[in-house]
Amino acid sequence: MTGHDIVRYLSTRDPRAEPLTRSFAEVLIAGLAEDGGLYVPERMPAIASDIPGFAGLPYAELACRIVSLFAGDTFPPGELQQLAVAAYRSFRHAAVAPLVQVDESLWLLELFHGPTLAFKDLALQLVGLMFDAVLAHRCEHVTVIGATSGDTGSAAIEACGKRSAIDIFILYPHQRISEVQRRQMTTAEAPNTHAIAIEGTFDDCQDLVKALFADAGLRNELNLSAVNSINWARIAAQTIYYVAAGVALGAPERLVSFAVPTGNFGNVYAGHIARQMGLPIDRLVIGTNRNDILARYFASGRMALAAVEPSLSPSMDIQVSSNFERLLFELKGRNGAAVGEAMRGFRRTGSLPADDQAWRAARRLFSAHKVDDAETMQMISQTYARSGVLIDPHTAVAVSAARAEIAANGAGSPMVALGCAHPAKFPDAVERSTGVHPALPSGLADLFDRPERIVVLPNETGAVRRFIRAHSRRTGAAA
Ligand SMILES: *Cc1c(COP(=O)(O)O)cnc(C)c1O
Repeated sequence: MTGHDIVRYLSTRDPRAEPLTRSFAEVLIAGLAEDGGLYVPERMPAIASDIPGFAGLPYAELACRIVSLFAGDTFPPGELQQLAVAAYRSFRHAAVAPLVQVDESLWLLELFHGPTLAFKDLALQLVGLMFDAVLAHRCEHVTVIGATSGDTGSAAIEACGKRSAIDIFILYPHQRISEVQRRQMTTAEAPNTHAIAIEGTFDDCQDLVKALFADAGLRNELNLSAVNSINWARIAAQTIYYVAAGVALGAPERLVSFAVPTGNFGNVYAGHIARQMGLPIDRLVIGTNRNDILARYFASGRMALAAVEPSLSPSMDIQVSSNFERLLFELKGRNGAAVGEAMRGFRRTGSLPADDQAWRAARRLFSAHKVDDAETMQMISQTYARSGVLIDPHTAVAVSAARAEIAANGAGSPMVALGCAHPAKFPDAVERSTGVHPALPSGLADLFDRPERIVVLPNETGAVRRFIRAHSRRTGAAA
């Protein structure tokens, strides 16, 4: 690959006609752009002509080929290959992301065989290793701050745990995540990991993270970095399983559709990127729970905030879908000034300024269905009764949205519902729907016996800043 081919990244809010661009390594370490925007590639790498050669590749090899298109010359020859092999070695299934057929037209892509039982592991296991490798190249230390609605936090803690170049602080909404999710964070033994319960919602946690990033002094002092779903490297790593599933079901000859349980819009947006790279995707179906800001947007063109309400699928109890900004950038003709203005308007008023043209373009790319708790339970029980497959409530939202889409517009292409969490991660809803108590996989069986470290803080930037300053080894070293 010549230097000319290497992809560079720009912020969705850069107002300049000639935007400032950054390398993959810079974007990986920084997470969020300094102007508050999200990084996106200047151009999308193309895989269309490579797809026939992807058939039958081991997952780690496919991962290496796809991520290298985004990473360019970030890693010396062979290093990315080693990182990919190491990242997916911790998975309990040799196929990493196996496909299970549920009925004639519906498949389940099982993305929950990683160490924390949710799809976040597929990206974060690799991103954590890439992160540590880049820091090692640079002899740098970072303080990672992230907000989680449950699953990102444990996956990030698992991925960054024993790494010497990283301290990690994860904010989660107090008493709004499942016990398994909480324990996966609070029982981590590595002293560089800190889970903090915030007295508020996930959106409050996300706002706190943004406020800490906006504090330039703190940002420099602690060398702040983010690994939540706004990091481009995660999006890149999430395109891999779309390609793997597409190829397994007949790409490039056959079109495939995907149904995705959606919260922060990271997962389904990665599917959109896979399609832009040249994977022949027919439909991308968004499933939301009762927190349906996205479904309302696709139905009406209006994106307006409502209060977050707890549901059976807590990892999707979100109103502000951060990654939507990346789509908006595209819908607005890659106009950073317009995106910056729209996002500031959203912040100020709680609703996105209407843009009919953007909305029409969005509806050509995605369809969206809202699935309430009753339908979620019904889909868990129906899927178990008809196919003998136990699914968690998030996966059930995807399956339900897939069925609604097929009912509305016909089957057409094979439909793949993304299985985003292991049923044992949300055992109560599964047991209530099916009468079957899903067992934790061995290796996690003692989770409920491990001691927890619990920290609860008020929803205040000052309190969180003080805690992080007091516990980051970087401040310790400087003091
Ligand atoms: C994170 C998560 C989601 C939502 O994914 P987004 O990328 O935020 O849209 C859905 N289901 C599960 C189990 C998750 O962990």
